[in-house]
Amino acid sequence: MVEARPRRVALVTGASRGIGRAIALAFGRDGVDVACAYSSSAAAAAELVAQLQEQGERAVALEADLRDPAQAAGLVGRTIEALGHLDIVVNNAGVTRDGLVLRMSDADWDEVIAVDLSAAFAVCRAALRPMVRQRSGRIINITSVSGVVGNAGQANYAAAKAGLIGLTKSIAKEVAGRGITVNAVAPGFIDTDLTAGIGGTVVEQLRALIPAGRYGSPEEVAAAVSFLASPAASYITACVLHVDGGLAA
Ligand code: NAP
Repeated sequence: MVEARPRRVALVTGASRGIGRAIALAFGRDGVDVACAYSSSAAAAAELVAQLQEQGERAVALEADLRDPAQAAGLVGRTIEALGHLDIVVNNAGVTRDGLVLRMSDADWDEVIAVDLSAAFAVCRAALRPMVRQRSGRIINITSVSGVVGNAGQANYAAAKAGLIGLTKSIAKEVAGRGITVNAVAPGFIDTDLTAGIGGTVVEQLRALIPAGRYGSPEEVAAAVSFLASPAASYITACVLHVDGGLAA
C-alpha cells in the first residue's frame, strides 16, 4: 500500500493581522496546515484558526512575544508538537518605530531589530534543524521596499529589513544542497494597520511614487508567498521577490 503523503505544515509569524493573516488563509486554500503565531491579538488569532478549521485545515494559534529570541525559537518545537512536522516557515511579524536618526531612542532601535530581524534569525536557526534532517523545507522572510532602497525616518526598520535580505541569501547558500529554499518577499505599500497611520496628503504623495498608482493588498503579498512555498518554486532560492507595484524599480 502506498502511504499517503503527510499534509504540509506552515508556521506563520504575525498571523493575527494584515499580511500574515492573508498568508495563513492562502495556505489554508492550498491545503497547508498552519500554526498562526501572534503576540497581543489573541481574539483575532482565535477567529483565524476557527475560520481555517471550518475550511477543513488543521490550525493552531501560538502566542509568543518575538522581542524574546527564546520565545521566537520555541515556536518551531511548538508547531511540530501541535501539527506533527514543519515544512514551511514564514517570518512575517514586524513592527515600525519611525523617527529621524537624530531623535531615535535606543529602545526604538532595539525593538525593531529584535522583532524584525533577530526573531527571524532565531526562528530560522531552530527550523533548519528539522528541515535539514528531513532534507526539505521552505523559508520565506517578509522584508520591505525600505530594506531595499532605504527610507528617511525608518533607519531602524530599513536596517532590520536589509539585514533580513542578507540573512535570507546567506542561509539560502548554506542549505541549498539540502533541499531547502530560502527566499524573501519585499512588499511596497500594502493596505494594513501598519500603513493605516499614514494619512492626508502624504498618502497621495506616496501613491504618486508607485508606478501601479495604488497600494497593494495583503492578498497580493500572500499570493507571492504561496508561490514560493509551492512545488512550482523548487529551483528558486536566495531570491527577493518584489511585490510593490514597481516602486523599487
Ligand atoms: P500589521 O498589520 O501591523 O501586523 C503586524 C503583525 O506582527 C501582527 O500580527 C502582530 O501580532 C505581529 N507582531 C508585532 N509585534 C510582535 C511581537 N513583539 N511579537 C510577535 N508578533 C508581533 O503589519 P503588516 O502590514 O501585516 O506587516 C507584515 C509584515 O510585512 C511586516 O514584517 C512588515 O514589516 C512587512 N511589510 C509591510 C508593509 C505594508 O505596507 N503593510 C510593507 C512592507 C513590508 P499581534 O497583533 O498579535 O501583536
